[in-house]
Amino acid sequence: MREVEPKVFLIGETRVVPEGLEAYLKHVGAAGWSSDAASDAELLAEVYGRSCYRSFFPGLNPNVTRVRGSNREHLGNILAVGHGSVLEHSVLNFMICDVSRVFTHELVRHRAGTAISQESLRFVRLTELGAWVPTVIRESPEVMEVFVRTFQEMERLQVTLAKQLDVQTGNFERKKKLTSAMRRLAPEGVATNIGWSANVRALRHVIEDRTHPGAEEEIRLVFGKVAELVRARYPVLFGDYEAETVDGLLWYRTPHRKV
Ligand SMILES: Cc1cc2nc3c(=O)[nH]c(=O)nc-3n(C[C@H](O)[C@H](O)[C@H](O)COP(=O)(O)OP(=O)(O)OC[C@H]3O[C@@H](n4cnc5c(N)ncnc54)[C@H](O)[C@@H]3O)c2cc1C
Repeated sequence: MREVEPKVFLIGETRVVPEGLEAYLKHVGAAGWSSDAASDAELLAEVYGRSCYRSFFPGLNPNVTRVRGSNREHLGNILAVGHGSVLEHSVLNFMICDVSRVFTHELVRHRAGTAISQESLRFVRLTELGAWVPTVIRESPEVMEVFVRTFQEMERLQVTLAKQLDVQTGNFERKKKLTSAMRRLAPEGVATNIGWSANVRALRHVIEDRTHPGAEEEIRLVFGKVAELVRARYPVLFGDYEAETVDGLLWYRTPHRKV
């Protein structure tokens, strides 16, 4: 058994097309408008937000005599009034690695605004089993011994079954059929990888739900890492979050829940 730690990689993000944005601003009479946004995700949310009221400059819409100046002011208001749909335009792309199927079962329950590509254990044959060990198991040497022994036994079982079924022989269809049969005897705690993308609105909801002390330890750990990463990269979009440590893990809270 290989002991693992869950990992989060941000592998993609929506970006602005500067010449397209410039042409759009000219089209709506807002040529020369610029933003102090720290990231493209924050710039896009601001542009879409301002586009609703033509609030790039005072007077562009005769009903608007004052506009909020900075990106932080504008998005702060968006979060405060719950105008969350403008946060849906930017999508962030993650690879979440060395997590259990316990974690992935929970993650895929979040459907709105997400995209998922999960490692197939029908195609990928298990040999060495990785596992993240929950605190309650790690804290007790006796229980840890049972955990490791059982995992090792299941690891041996995968190799033994592969030999008995002669998986290596035959075409890929046969391999797939046998690999899928064998995975039924793998533990739910086996480490795997999942690709997960979410728009910023959906991501905020999942961070709030899954860092909550009532959520499971592994998903709390992973979304604590996600929150840390996005707070550093998109300081305004997640700038209303406050972190509190509960049971050794960070709980991200906001007065603007589920915008
Ligand atoms: C602590 C905890 C314990 C849990 N325990 C269990 C459990 O024991 N058993 C179990 O089955 N699940 C459990 N879940 C999963 C939970 O029921 C949800 O399926 C999961 O949290 C997904 O969140 P969501 O429903 O907000 O969906 P998301 O897909 O994240 O959607 C976000 C929001 O969009 C809206 N939305 C999404 N889809 C629709 C729709 N079809 N119609 C209308 N509005 C929609 C809702 O407002 C929703 O909250 C648990 C979750 C947590 C956080």
